[in-house]
Amino acid sequence: MSKNYLKLQFYSLPQNQAFARDAVAAFCLELNPSLSALSDVKTAVSEAVTNCTVHAYREERGIVTVECEIEDNVLHIKVSDTGKGIPDVEKAVQPFFTTLPSDERSGMGFTIMQTFMDEFSVDSKSGGGTVVYMAKKFETEVA
Ligand code: ATP
Ligand code: MG
Repeated sequence: MSKNYLKLQFYSLPQNQAFARDAVAAFCLELNPSLSALSDVKTAVSEAVTNCTVHAYREERGIVTVECEIEDNVLHIKVSDTGKGIPDVEKAVQPFFTTLPSDERSGMGFTIMQTFMDEFSVDSKSGGGTVVYMAKKFETEVA
């Protein structure tokens, strides 16, 4: 059984979004991902990390934690912040829902994560930070 673990912590600066996305992509290379599966994971991680920068901490600088775990052919990802939290998660995950329409946000981040990944859930409360959990199952290569 294949098992591996990675934890990244970084400031919620925009320049760290690409770093986080590429680090997670590099971590899952041992699963021999297809280009399309890899691209799905990168997009989902980018959306989750971007949300920490633009929503959770807004003007402030906070810590973003990205944890990844490989279990057999499944990649589990947790993106957490200790920022402002989400008062109504059910509403926030709806397509086109955004609290920042003025910043040209389209409200599609959570929808993209949900669509591109096999598992997706959000745990948050107002003032209590947010944890986004996602998982992707990789097809195993037939030799
Ligand atoms: P887009 O992702 O299309 O640029 P968006 O970020 O507003 O727009 P989602 O990513 O779907 O859309 O997020 C929906 C809403 O959920 C956000 O507008 C924000 O209010 C809230 N939200 C998302 N992530 C967080 C977070 N980590 N902390 C606090 N609020 C969040
Ligand atoms: Mg977003």
